[in-house]
Amino acid sequence: MDDDRSRGLEQTSGATPPVIAGERIRHWPAGTVLAGLGLVFAAIAASLVMWLAVDQRLVKDVALQLHDQTVPWTLERQRLARNLEELRFGGQSVLTAGDQGRREEAFFLIRVLAAHPSMGDDPRVAVLVAEVESFLAQIVSGASKPDMARWEALSNRLRLLADDLSVEGGQRMTVELARMTDAMNQARYKLLFNLILVGAFLASFLVILQRFLIRPLQRIHASLTTLDPHGPVPQPAPLAMAEIHVVEKAIVRFHETLRENEDVRRKLERLATTDSLTGLPNRRHFMGLAAAEMARAARYGRPITVGIADLDHFKQVNDRFGHSAGDHVLQVFAALLAETLRQTDLVCRYGGEEFAFIFPETAPEEAMRLAGRLRLRLADRPVVLADGQVLQVTVSMGLADGAGRGLEECLARADQALYEAKDRGRDRIVVVEAGHEGVLMPP
Ligand code: GH3
Ligand code: MG
Ligand code: MG
Repeated sequence: MDDDRSRGLEQTSGATPPVIAGERIRHWPAGTVLAGLGLVFAAIAASLVMWLAVDQRLVKDVALQLHDQTVPWTLERQRLARNLEELRFGGQSVLTAGDQGRREEAFFLIRVLAAHPSMGDDPRVAVLVAEVESFLAQIVSGASKPDMARWEALSNRLRLLADDLSVEGGQRMTVELARMTDAMNQARYKLLFNLILVGAFLASFLVILQRFLIRPLQRIHASLTTLDPHGPVPQPAPLAMAEIHVVEKAIVRFHETLRENEDVRRKLERLATTDSLTGLPNRRHFMGLAAAEMARAARYGRPITVGIADLDHFKQVNDRFGHSAGDHVLQVFAALLAETLRQTDLVCRYGGEEFAFIFPETAPEEAMRLAGRLRLRLADRPVVLADGQVLQVTVSMGLADGAGRGLEECLARADQALYEAKDRGRDRIVVVEAGHEGVLMPP
């Protein structure tokens, strides 16, 4: 976790701004895009409706034509056909009548039928009816004898013409109805096509919304809910509408600010808790950590040892070699502490050339061995100054058994032991243990 954090800090410490994907892509405002799409949709829908209206008009025209012309015309044909049949039966009656009275009676009916105005509508009918009327008139007047063979021929022509008239009416109706069916089928196909077009348009509309609006919104939601100054820089969606893009860029800037704040916070925290010369925890920070360790040891009845170390004759180092040489000695000693102590041990620069220690889970004898190792290492490694001079530094240390005691009391006892060590000639360790005090090292 700490590694991750430090990596995160390294990333922000560079001057290069975060790279934002899709900067070159034009981001359209959602309002413009939606209005444009709506216009296209309205134009397509309007033209489709007009296209459908053409068929509707055609159906209406055909229906009107059927109603106003074709159906009356067909009925007229039927009536004409029926009249021709009547004429045929009347003619048959004229030819087969038993006496002149009945013949004239039948012929009167023929003349009434032949005089009907509808007989003049069709020239074929007019010609044939005139021919039949004149043939029968000659028989009725007695100018000629009834010629059955001629009448058979005329009767057949009447029947055939009546059939033709009936069929013509039906045919015209059939043609009109076929036109209408055709137009209705066309309208059905066009409606289907229109529906498919509208469906395709709606589908593409939804795809555009999903891709350029909804998905980027989901990305914003995800990056806002997981926004972490130590996490990677949120990348704006390359394809998004302008408003979304602006929000995403703001999130990137926000992330950058969070990182900078985190960076500053960590620096401040380090400044507040660390001694700048040695890099060790400062006294205030140490006191907090040490109090917690002491409380834990007291609660669980665990062994713990407190110590204070002080470099011997340090004033002389400053006086003889200069203050910066003294600083260097302090840094070398701090480095030695860091490499000698265990990870669980606590150490701080207590003040000047004094250092305080907490050895958790450690009885005074073991702490004594540890301190002894530190003293020997210091003896083994003379400090080399910048000008090449070599300096033998020694340290005195006081240790106090911390089991069952408070921090302040233990520090005071360790300080006492330290004075004792100084008093007995320096470069040694004195431990104050419950029961017996003043164990010396070296003996
Ligand atoms: P003793 O063996 O009795 O401890 O003698 P001493 O000279 O070490 O004791 P004293 O407390 O008189 O001197 C401590 C000196 O440490 C005084 C001060 O100038 C020096 N000192 C304190 N802090 C620093 C520091 O940050 N850098 C340097 N170079 N010297 C410091
Ligand atoms: Mg000193
Ligand atoms: Mg001192």
